[in-house]
Amino acid sequence: MNLPDTMNCMMLVAQGQPLVAKTVAMPVPGHGQVLVKIIACGVCRTDLHVADGDLTQPKLPLIPGHEITGIIAKTGPGTSLHKTGDLVGIPWLGYTCGKCKYCLKGKENLCSYALFTGYTIDGGYAGYTVAFEQFCLPLSQKFIYPSMAPMLCAGLIGYRSWNMIGSDAVNIGFYGFGAAASILIQIARSQGKKVFAFSRPGDTESQNMAKRLGAHWAGDSSQASPVPLDAAILFAPAGELVPKALSDTDKGGLVICAGIHMSDIPSFPYSLLWEERTIQSVANLTREDAAGFFSTIAAIPVHTETKLYPLHEANTALNDLRKGAIHGAAVLVMD
Ligand SMILES: [Zn+2]
Ligand SMILES: [Zn+2]
Repeated sequence: MNLPDTMNCMMLVAQGQPLVAKTVAMPVPGHGQVLVKIIACGVCRTDLHVADGDLTQPKLPLIPGHEITGIIAKTGPGTSLHKTGDLVGIPWLGYTCGKCKYCLKGKENLCSYALFTGYTIDGGYAGYTVAFEQFCLPLSQKFIYPSMAPMLCAGLIGYRSWNMIGSDAVNIGFYGFGAAASILIQIARSQGKKVFAFSRPGDTESQNMAKRLGAHWAGDSSQASPVPLDAAILFAPAGELVPKALSDTDKGGLVICAGIHMSDIPSFPYSLLWEERTIQSVANLTREDAAGFFSTIAAIPVHTETKLYPLHEANTALNDLRKGAIHGAAVLVMD
């Protein structure tokens, strides 16, 4: 493959400021890395937290984006897993050490030395990126479509959250019905679960999308659940939803917080937690999660609800997400 010397990207130079369009030198894959020509990159709420400064440790300047699909354009020294032309996905988890106590326990999502795509290493708001080959996920041909990019985070993190709630849960609440919930509901439905979708008060468009995708009930997050829930998954980064979800949850129920950042959780009476209710957060993902997710969606025809933007309109996509104007997921498509 003939590679250009430069590439276009959208760069975060300082938090709290819009991304800047830049032409930069083509990245060179180091030891164990591959160069990937990007097809598409999903826009995740985490990107907003990085751009806005809610997450305080980014590499700067930074190319954001961690829902990347692309084709291997070049392999670096010491690589053997992929070859030029392979279709791969690059998720949030960009590197783990393999040696710390968390890695050794199979909890690489908690690795003390992890690197995160589009946060502590450059990501996918660009024509190309380099990535450690062991963290490039082989993808089936259907991922050639840009609309599949959100599977790489909204899908994966949603799936990790899903695996935490236990197979006996039947009535399940989703709080915040965006990209992750719209993918996960399709898995939930395939397993015969009943999904109760809570969205921002008045957001009838998200509620209609939830119903279209098979939600048993959809309404405002200010409304009480019509039945006690066995489990609740919070996708919205709003701390006040934690006591709300606890109040909707049955004895022994679980409240899973799926986001990387959340506003402060207000104090609440112990009676909401009493009767063995549990609050649990979800941090990052493991490659095992990815393997499980991809085999699950191979068996179910899961699709995404997306709005596509050209790369240079990344700021518009982020603003639309910030305003709640996107129903489903925003995806940047490379030029
Ligand atoms: Zn580690
Ligand atoms: Zn994400």
